[in-house]
Order: sequence, then C-alpha cells, then structure tokens
Amino acid sequence: MNKISRPKNKIPVGILGATGMVGQRFVALLENHPWFEVVCVAASSRSAGKLYREAVENRWSLKSKIPAKIGELLVLEVERDIEKISEEIVFAFSALSLDKAKTKEIENSYAGIGIPIVSNNSAHRWTEDVPMIIPEINSHHIGLIDIQKKNRGWGRGFIVVKPNCSIQSYVPVLEALKKFGVEQVIVSTYQAISGAGKTFETWPEMEDNVIPFIPGEEKKSEDEPMKIWGEIVNGKLELAAKPKISSTCIRVPVTNGHMVSVNVKFRTRPTKEEFINAIENFRNPIGGSNLPSSPEKFLQYFYENDRPQTRLDRDFGNGMGISVGRLREDTILDWKFVALSHNTIRGAAGGAVLVAELLTKKGYIKI
Ligand code: NAP
Repeated sequence: MNKISRPKNKIPVGILGATGMVGQRFVALLENHPWFEVVCVAASSRSAGKLYREAVENRWSLKSKIPAKIGELLVLEVERDIEKISEEIVFAFSALSLDKAKTKEIENSYAGIGIPIVSNNSAHRWTEDVPMIIPEINSHHIGLIDIQKKNRGWGRGFIVVKPNCSIQSYVPVLEALKKFGVEQVIVSTYQAISGAGKTFETWPEMEDNVIPFIPGEEKKSEDEPMKIWGEIVNGKLELAAKPKISSTCIRVPVTNGHMVSVNVKFRTRPTKEEFINAIENFRNPIGGSNLPSSPEKFLQYFYENDRPQTRLDRDFGNGMGISVGRLREDTILDWKFVALSHNTIRGAAGGAVLVAELLTKKGYIKI
C-alpha cells in the first residue's frame, strides 16, 4: 500500500532515485525531518513495484536501519508514474543517475507540471538559468528561479542544483578567505568510494588500492566554483573570473569523506593568524535562519598536525561542517592546508536538504 496520509504540518516530498547511494542518504536524513516528510520513493523499472525495504534489501549502505515507515512505501517508476507522484508531493529531491539528456528531460517534466526539483545530478549544473547553490556561499542566486520560471513559462515548478561533492571541502574555506583576494589554487582531492555510488562489497578492486582517475571530476572541480562565485547581472549569471584552479582528483579506499590538499596564492597574503581567524570566525550568512540542517559551526580549524582525519572528523556538524588543518607556508604559492567534508551528506543529500530548507524559508517551496 503506497498511500500514506498526507502529513498535516509537514511538506510532502518525493525522492527520485531513492534506491541509490545518495537516495538512501536522503531517506535516512529525512526520516525525522521537522519540515519535510517523505511520502513517495521512485526509481527505475528495476525497483518499481517493490516495497522500498525490498528494493534496497541487498544494497542498503548505511549503518542506520532502513526507516520503518519509508521501508513500507511502494517504489514507483520515475517516468511512468509521474502523474501519480506529482499528486502526492509538493517537491522532489533528484538523486537520479542516468545519462544527462534523459536526466534533464525527467527533471524538466516534473518542474513543468509544477513540482520543484532540488537535484544532485550534474545534468542541469550548466543550464544558464538554473542556480547551483551552496547556501552558506551563494544563497542570493535563488533569484535565478524567478528568471527561470519566466523563461520557461513554469508556474510553481523550477529546478535548483547543488554542486559536485569534490568542491565542497575547499570552496567554503576559500570563501572565508575571500577578503585576501584568492588568486590561484592548486587542489588535489582524495575522494571516498561512496562518491562513485559504491561500497567495498560492490567495488572490491578499491581495497588496498588508489586509483588516480575519476572521470570528469577534475573539470567539475575547476569549473563549478566559478558558477558558485558568479554574480547575477541584468538577469544573467556571469561566471567569476578568479581564482584560477588546477585540480587532480584521486579515488582512495575510504567509505565516506573527501579530503583535499590545497595550495593557494592571494592578492594580499594573510598572516597565519589572519588565515586561521578567517576560518574560525567565518560569519555564516544563513547561521541565524534556523534551518534544521544548518550546522552550528560551518568551519572548524585543527591545530593538531594529524587532523582532520576522515574517520574522526567527517561527521563534524552532523556531516554538514567542513574541517580544516595543517596550515603551512607554501614554497611556491602562499599557503597550503588540508580540508575534509562528508561527501554524501554535505556533498550530496545533506547539502540538497539544506537548499530545500532555504527555498522553503524564502517561500519558493510551500504547501
Ligand atoms: P546510484 O547509487 O547509482 O543510484 C542511482 C539511482 O537512479 C537509483 O535509485 C536508480 O534506480 C535510479 N535510476 C537509474 N536509472 C534510472 C532510470 N532509467 N529511471 C529511473 N531511475 C533510474 O547513484 P548515486 O551515487 O546515488 O548518485 C546519484 C546522483 O547523485 C548522481 O547523479 C551522482 O553523480 C550524484 N552525486 C553523488 C554523490 C555521491 O557522493 N555519491 C555526490 C554528489 C552527487 P534503481 O535502483 O531502480 O536502478
């Protein structure tokens, strides 16, 4: 039985791609969400027709149990059941993994019939009128939604995306250092296997191994920050011209948590104290908004030489905070440091939930 009573005080939400790695994170994060309630889970024809708990039975990748109520929902088919799904929900998270053209087509179809989509997928990241949001950095880009709706003649529906998980360990840190003028960045990422939707069971080749290639990731790591730091000018988003970023992306044998090593050159070189103060005292622009997924502290700095560590620190701020450490003078640029974020929480589902909370607060998502 799929029909569950429409929540009285909560906004009914659907998850497209609910059975995958990121979809499962959405399910877990939304289990007790104070504003949103999952009333619909959808995936491909491979999963449709099964109860959610049956569809993920052999591939549930989280330590927590499958939420009981969501486990009893019947999985619907994303494309075939679009009308039925749209009757049950106010908006949807997209955690689909299929080719870009098809993803765009599906997300457009939902937005076109009035369902706002908050997407993890990269398909729409470079669509001109689709905002790509990290709420602590560019929440003002949600103004693009009004332009998007006008461009397409959409009513209640729209599409918002969140950026790639790889950039979320270093872009927030550089944002905190913006006043010193970030000119050049060399970044190496050490990315967890969950970022590929995998576990050690499904990707045994990653045990005792490092793979120095993640398809498409380096370009995303270099280009996406330019959209995040862009400005809306005369109704269009102009990309930022700086900093120049060069990246190398490497897959390492950890389950969750993307670590980065960053070398950076500034227009005005901060002292070590100024650098650390900028991180520790970063004024989170959405800090006072009471968004349920917003971490109490967004950025933390470690003075210990061996921190942040993936296992110890990825869950900082319920997986929504960024940890920084190992600040040293660089022999070529100005400074170098390491940073860490949780790729499937801050970098994927949690980041998208925070975007949806912001959109709700701003009145773009409402019952
Ligand atoms: P995944 O584990 O492969 O899951 C993919 C989901 O898409 C499944 O629910 C799958 O349903 C569904 N799907 C596939 N083909 C479909 C179709 N033809 N029609 C309807 N549903 C279909 O992928 P993932 O790792 O969760 O990633 C999801 C998205 O988030 C991807 O775009 C990925 O790039 C992005 N992302 C991932 C991370 C991360 O850390 N993992 C971070 C940021 C962004 P079935 O189970 O029925 O096949």
